[in-house]
Amino acid sequence: MTKRGLVRELVSIAGRDAVVHRPEELLTYECDGYTLARATPDVVVHVGNAAHVQDIVKLCAREKIPFYPRGLGTGLSGGCTPVGSGQWSVVSGQHAARDVARVACQPVEVSACGRTGSKLPVAPGGGGVVIALNRMDRILEIDLRNRIAVVEPGVINLALTEAVQGDGYFFAPDPASQQACSIGGNIAENSGGPHCLKYGVTANHVLGVELVLPTGQVVQLGGKTEDAPGYDLVRLVIGSEGTLGIVTKAIVRLLRAPQGVRTMLAIFNTVRDAGQAVSDIIAAGIIPVALEMMDKLVVGAVEAAYGFGFPLDAEVVLIVELDGLEAGLDEGMRRAREICQNNRVREIRMARTVQERLLLWTSRKGAFGAIGRLSPSFCTQDGTVPRTKLPEVLEKIAAIAEKHGVRIANVFHAGDGNLHPLILFDDRDEEQVRRVPGIGGEILQACVALGGTITGEHGIGSEKIEYMPLIFDEPDLSAMRELKRIFDPGGICNPGKVLPPELEAARA
Ligand SMILES: Cc1cc2nc3c(=O)[nH]c(=O)nc-3n(C[C@H](O)[C@H](O)[C@H](O)COP(=O)(O)OP(=O)(O)OC[C@H]3O[C@@H](n4cnc5c(N)ncnc54)[C@H](O)[C@@H]3O)c2cc1C
Repeated sequence: MTKRGLVRELVSIAGRDAVVHRPEELLTYECDGYTLARATPDVVVHVGNAAHVQDIVKLCAREKIPFYPRGLGTGLSGGCTPVGSGQWSVVSGQHAARDVARVACQPVEVSACGRTGSKLPVAPGGGGVVIALNRMDRILEIDLRNRIAVVEPGVINLALTEAVQGDGYFFAPDPASQQACSIGGNIAENSGGPHCLKYGVTANHVLGVELVLPTGQVVQLGGKTEDAPGYDLVRLVIGSEGTLGIVTKAIVRLLRAPQGVRTMLAIFNTVRDAGQAVSDIIAAGIIPVALEMMDKLVVGAVEAAYGFGFPLDAEVVLIVELDGLEAGLDEGMRRAREICQNNRVREIRMARTVQERLLLWTSRKGAFGAIGRLSPSFCTQDGTVPRTKLPEVLEKIAAIAEKHGVRIANVFHAGDGNLHPLILFDDRDEEQVRRVPGIGGEILQACVALGGTITGEHGIGSEKIEYMPLIFDEPDLSAMRELKRIFDPGGICNPGKVLPPELEAARA
């Protein structure tokens, strides 16, 4: 099938205004928040309903065209980037599914994009169809008596909370990107957020999904009630990064807003003391709703952006938040303060007003964006360690930064041991661009060496695919590939993500 033929068919399914195919327009879709691997698709279709998705997937299955689900493109591991198409092209119509992952795994070649002098790499691959879910953004049902909502996948995370907060409810998963990311993306990534320490990640808040399988068949998994019988395929789909099908509807839990909340900012002179305070707070049986840390570099950037009043000379700041019934909150906070004092806290500030608390959270949630004040570009890493190892891993990250002569800023969900080292670089400098993925890899290896893992919440995507063998042996990976093949026999659903290619020896 030619590209022209493909565009014609897609227009007949979704309408002319839904299909984007001119090269200059496609540049918008060449990456997500992970900018180090870029590739443009042949076509993007902004679907309006599940029938569009089904018809497009059937077309792709018939023509063996790879397709890539895309929510709102805020992902940080290249999850929706069309890097996996390998040698497939709409012109030749050739696509070898087996080659797909291997192509994505090869080191990307650095080539100038020619825009603003950027030297960000263009990955091999590209092509295929991006199925963009952003127009499927309706909240279909809100049932407060049963505390559930039914939503289309393109609903923005925060929009759901905004729709129910007047009645005293909220949707718990709150990635820092919640103003911009979609619930479909949250499901695909099993996203977390600052308040997931107490409330759990997306998987804890999804009861059911409607899924268009890579063959075009539609299945309903889970439902409105708890504990659906049969295999728990809902949990399988959550966190599968769009590689098992496209979520076209989700049934999610709503929670009652807490009666009260207390927030404090604890300022420490050393990461070791702050890290110990985090461990001690949890060991004491206190369950904060959030325990978030930002290091000196991040605090500097955030302060310049939001003017909260952070001390610029502090080595690290820790946000401690408790919520729940009013009755226990002051006592819980008193104990948390005491623990911080036992760990040589330099200063403690309580948020005295709602506005102060909101500004503190705006600053924390805006931390990634504020980094633009420090550097033209940055790459966000995402690793996890047992929380007691936080000081140790931060020392290792500092050593990696020194070895490579780069700055690495750190912001982390300390309570979960989930860290986000931000590698600062200049995308106009080819040499810096070339080195960033390797620096990220060293950070992930340090996490694994300390008993941690290679992602806490941003997923594997195309970015971390080569590090999967650090965590999984070949039989584990092979079991996952088998599962993928059952859902996606043609290998066309978001190829080049999550699973590294089979080793030649294992295939022989
Ligand atoms: C500033 C910033 C802060 C962030 N903070 C956090 C944070 O605190 N916690 C966190 O977990 N993440 C965070 N993220 C990462 C990102 O926002 C989340 O991963 C989010 O869930 C992605 O949603 P999206 O709609 O942008 O998905 P996209 O980036 O469009 O896609 C992400 C993945 O989901 C798949 N996908 C999307 N929609 C569907 C669907 N309907 N069906 C099947 N697959 C689908 C895609 O193929 C891709 O693999 C942050 C990102 C940014 C830029």
